[in-house]
Amino acid sequence: PADILGARRNSSGFLWSDPVSADPVRATMERALQSPAEAMPLIGGAPREGAVEVAFDPSDRSRAIGRVSVAGEAETEEALEIAVKAQAKWDRLGGEGRAEILEKAADLFEKNRSELMALIVREAGKTLPTAVGEVREAVDFLRYYAAEARAHFSGPVRLPGPTGESNELTLHGKGVFACISPWNFPLAIFTGQIAGALAAGNAVLAKPAETTPLVAMAGTKLLLEAGVPGDVLHLLPGSGPVIGKVMFADPRLAGAIFTGSTRTATAINRALAMRDGPIATVIAETGGQNAMIVDSTALPEQVARDAVMSAFDSAGQRCSALRVLFVQEDVADKMLDMIIGFSEELAIGDPFDPATDIGPVINETARQNLSNHAEKMTRRAKLLKALPLGPQHENGFFFAPHIFEIGAISDLEGEVFGPVMHVVRYGAGQLDKVCEAVNSTGFGLTLGVHSRIEATAAFVRERVRAGNIYVNRNQIGAVVGVQPFGGEGLSGTGPKAGGPQYLHRLALERTYTVNTT
Ligand code: GLU
Repeated sequence: PADILGARRNSSGFLWSDPVSADPVRATMERALQSPAEAMPLIGGAPREGAVEVAFDPSDRSRAIGRVSVAGEAETEEALEIAVKAQAKWDRLGGEGRAEILEKAADLFEKNRSELMALIVREAGKTLPTAVGEVREAVDFLRYYAAEARAHFSGPVRLPGPTGESNELTLHGKGVFACISPWNFPLAIFTGQIAGALAAGNAVLAKPAETTPLVAMAGTKLLLEAGVPGDVLHLLPGSGPVIGKVMFADPRLAGAIFTGSTRTATAINRALAMRDGPIATVIAETGGQNAMIVDSTALPEQVARDAVMSAFDSAGQRCSALRVLFVQEDVADKMLDMIIGFSEELAIGDPFDPATDIGPVINETARQNLSNHAEKMTRRAKLLKALPLGPQHENGFFFAPHIFEIGAISDLEGEVFGPVMHVVRYGAGQLDKVCEAVNSTGFGLTLGVHSRIEATAAFVRERVRAGNIYVNRNQIGAVVGVQPFGGEGLSGTGPKAGGPQYLHRLALERTYTVNTT
């Protein structure tokens, strides 16, 4: 309700099962897909042609969906140069001016929802419901950070001082930020990073994931159309190492916002630390080894649905996804039967089909890594379920959901980014040990708890180090401004995306003292 959210409302939902609203959307999506999409570097607002690559649909690798020109070192250099010069003016525009532009962008995203979703489905292989979620989250980020900019960056805060002196505190952008976004939320996280940096008064070099430049291009065009100046926001599709080498060595880069693997975050942090010049700001949102703890009082139907959706929705390609289910021994067989039964109902297939629950994984490397993991687990652990794939899946990068029972969370070597659920049984009275085991991974992103005893959830809450804890529900799909998202330890630096601290990390503070006597 408006009285809780204040002036800002989160975006509205959408029902695929309602033909009145769904049919026109699908028709627009189909139309949008008839002409091939294009992505290219956008520097100073102008498109650049470079070496062209063809983008294919991960659910059918024979289907070309667009052409991509990539940015190299020279384009990166040029974009940085222009951004450095443009940032001060963008900062001077103030929170109110920037908020208006970001809100206009949110309106444009909503207006062009079908076109954006079409690309999300075809380029990232996301299902229709998750594509709706993507656009909604992107819109929410734009509106949330706009509201934050308006509240904190619109004018000075007066501070108390001695008589004869006036004191003010103002917030400003730090400079130029590199926003390096992942393919699993090619619009939402891409937009969230950029909106956060822009709202706080920074200029942006946006480097989208190599696998999803088309969605990034569509989003960038709308941001520019809304009034973000072309010299303030630049799009650099292309290779991380090539573009990163230029950006991270340059002392004029104020910092980086990154979502992706812990290993890449560490490499970025190291590169920025090695350059001469000011100490950079790094915001990293990385992986997880997310657990769900289910005790003997939990409701089996609810556990089955929430565990399966947490582990397998988006083909498990969310950093929030459930990886290790801890289930109390005395109810384990019953719970597992239900979980397996529930997972057997999932339809794996073309994400454009409304009946599909699980689409493809992003590319052949991802599929191969998952299949290597499954092979290893099949030898070392107990395979409880592997959903079947058929001939209709052969053209795409499909990997079916798997459920393994393992001895301990420490049997896993790291995050497995896909639809694989690992199950560990624990005995009554072992909850403390379970919490310790979860912490021992070093990750700290999401945690699910299923219990009808409040004290059990409270016990776990006090012990497990995790950024987002969910009780008696699924553990994915954090909502902007409702569950600010991000973890600790190996899972990231904070501040949380879609939370009240985010813009402050991207800002510097200045005081202004005047002797008035
Ligand atoms: N915010 C997303 C969620 O709560 C996950 C983000 C990610 O995978 O990076 O499911």
